[in-house]
Amino acid sequence: IQWEKQVRSSAQIHRSGGLSVLVTGAAGFVGTHVSLVLKNRGDGVVGLDNFNNYYDPSLKKARKVLLITHNVFVVEGDINDARLLAKLFDVVAFTHVMHLAAQAGVRYAMENPNSYVQSNIAGLVTLLEASRSASPQPAIVWASSSSVYGLNEKVPFSESDRTDRPASLYAATKKAGEEITHTYNNIYGLSITGLRFFTVYGPWGRPDMAYFSFTRNILQGKPITVYRGKNRVDLARDFTYIDDIVKGCVGSLDTAGKSTGSGGKKRGAAPFRIFNLGNTSPVTVPTLVSILERHLKLKAKKNIVDMPGNGDVPFTHANISLARRELGYKPTTDLQTGLNKFVRWYLSYYGYNHGKPV
Ligand code: NAD
Repeated sequence: IQWEKQVRSSAQIHRSGGLSVLVTGAAGFVGTHVSLVLKNRGDGVVGLDNFNNYYDPSLKKARKVLLITHNVFVVEGDINDARLLAKLFDVVAFTHVMHLAAQAGVRYAMENPNSYVQSNIAGLVTLLEASRSASPQPAIVWASSSSVYGLNEKVPFSESDRTDRPASLYAATKKAGEEITHTYNNIYGLSITGLRFFTVYGPWGRPDMAYFSFTRNILQGKPITVYRGKNRVDLARDFTYIDDIVKGCVGSLDTAGKSTGSGGKKRGAAPFRIFNLGNTSPVTVPTLVSILERHLKLKAKKNIVDMPGNGDVPFTHANISLARRELGYKPTTDLQTGLNKFVRWYLSYYGYNHGKPV
């Protein structure tokens, strides 16, 4: 009863025309930011996260505390738990699901393939089943990934480009997710929007990502490993600042169309959309390192090694004209500015003062 009260109160809408959103992966990097922005503009938000230990669980707990202070309740549970999902849809008539829960990271997949199948395929299907059975049916916006472009060599990547050369199991599960969601759109008329995020970074970010672990190692005087592609070409990524990604997520929710109602609309009439959310400005990894060195006022000890072929692709570069046209998506933060915000967050969160722990 207490649990239901907390869920209901968190789902309360405080503006006219507001949304009621179930955010999966709410204690994750992107989930935390999206939840806060939705809540702050008056939407109802309920989080769901299994708080797994893929990376430092204390960072997830700290994000949860941040969410609680903004009246966002995070249910601790798994997207594979069909009964829990049914209960949530029973308690709240969610208009939207922002599905961000996933096993992320490309390299971890080499040692832990099943964890990707479990969350990104089985979990996704369980969530879609719960959504199609819910009344009203929520519109689904979910995170795919730029990794679906795999070893594509044509840049920039457009949504209609080939996605049949995955370089990691992670990429394969995201590509499978696009097919699975398309099926649910065809069969049950679920409204689906898939967002292909390009290397998201910023405050409260993920410790397994390069910009984060480089910052930690540079501050601790430890060496960093910088991968180099074939023929000694530097790797490059279309680094995209978290606030820009959040705007793309919110724009997707706002244009996703509300509930179609079970049987209320002709089969297949609900939208199926896929958008790139990137920055359209790729930066090489050595440039990333030099920006961090400047912000930290410290030199990195670089180990430059050839890419070992463990899931990384040589470069990513988004064409974002579709998202610009349909969602009004317009990234505004360059890497220099965004990394400055990240570094300032990092230093205050981990208690550093002039590059030394306090
Ligand atoms: P994250 O790991 O910080 O967040 C994911 C959250 O989901 C975590 O808090 C985790 O505990 C939770 N979770 C995982 N499996 C779950 C399950 N079975 N049930 C319930 N909760 C579960 O990752 P993020 O960077 O915030 O990524 C969010 C989404 O965006 C993911 O789907 C990811 O694949 C995708 N994505 C991220 C990036 C990026 O650069 N950050 C790029 C492309 C795509």
